[in-house]
Amino acid sequence: MDDCIFCKIANKEIPSKIVYEDDKVVAFNDIDPKAPVHVLIIPKEHIPSPNHINSGNSTVSAHIASIIPKLAKQFDIYDSGYRVVVNCGKDGGQTVGHLHYHLLGGRNLDWPPG
Ligand code: 5GP
Ligand code: ZN
Repeated sequence: MDDCIFCKIANKEIPSKIVYEDDKVVAFNDIDPKAPVHVLIIPKEHIPSPNHINSGNSTVSAHIASIIPKLAKQFDIYDSGYRVVVNCGKDGGQTVGHLHYHLLGGRNLDWPPG
């Protein structure tokens, strides 16, 4: 996707603080963190939203799930706890049209969210 900001981050066309990368995913610090730890984990493949996960591309979601505890250890929130958020569409608060998993931690997170 030529005009997708997260594709550009994955392709290193725009800078970000990358904290993890492999052949399928990139994780980087959110530019506007909502918690002391706020990492975004994205597939390198352009998947627009959770609505677009299907049997043909869902392995990347399982892969991301396996990376999350590693990142939690990396950021020292494995034991204190954290939240993983995936927003979808207008009511879900999705503002960037490329599937992304928020990893939030480092403070006590409000629940339920607003
Ligand atoms: P959403 O609201 O779509 O679930 O989350 C999008 C997130 O992407 C927001 O938390 C926002 O701060 C972050 N974001 C938007 N643009 C950029 C950017 O250019 N770089 C980085 N690192 N994060 C971004
Ligand atoms: Zn994209």
